[in-house]
Amino acid sequence: MLNIVIFGPPGSGKGTQSARIVKKYDLTHLSTGDMLREEMEKNTPLGKQVSEYIDKGLLVPDDIVLKMLYDYAAGHMDSPGFIFDGFPRTIVQAEALDNLLDKRGIPINVVLSVEVEEKELLKRIVGRGEDSGRTDDSMEIANQRLDVYKKQTMPLIDYYKEQGKIAPINGMQPVDEVFGDICQAIEAVKAVQ
Ligand code: ADP
Repeated sequence: MLNIVIFGPPGSGKGTQSARIVKKYDLTHLSTGDMLREEMEKNTPLGKQVSEYIDKGLLVPDDIVLKMLYDYAAGHMDSPGFIFDGFPRTIVQAEALDNLLDKRGIPINVVLSVEVEEKELLKRIVGRGEDSGRTDDSMEIANQRLDVYKKQTMPLIDYYKEQGKIAPINGMQPVDEVFGDICQAIEAVKAVQ
């Protein structure tokens, strides 16, 4: 069992790298952002509810996200491992995830912290918005998402540092090189399993 959290600001390339990790290590990809967008695309009651937050660049409330996590995890208990992408994003979510995994004796092995400078993040997000069609990729909302990241999500770096689980990854490099560094970090934790 291999449990990985990929952590980083919006625009750091978490989604791109997660797709590669899933392929190479045969893990289940749990992206709360993808799950929430799917609900929005299908125009479900939940989708309508969460769009109020996402379109403003705010976090969706913890109880909604945690219910999604529990439902998804329950349906994938036979997986050889998970990559958590865009989750957890608050201390409450991180504690809930630790509780869920500890109960099953399958803790998080490593937290890949993808680091990218702020100027580069904004350039990427706004550039992506031109073809992603994402309603939250405008300059104004991107700035808001970065603010939310700093206030609500960055404290998780210390939370996981205390657990000795952070592997810093330089996300300013080309995609293949970032992936190379990620693989090295994953191999290092696999070696001590
Ligand atoms: P990015 O990392 O580029 O912001 P995501 O797809 O991870 O992209 O998230 C998009 C939006 O979905 C967030 O701005 C937030 O509103 C919502 N969201 C995703 N995951 C969570 C989460 N774990 N907790 C709360 N809100 C979330």
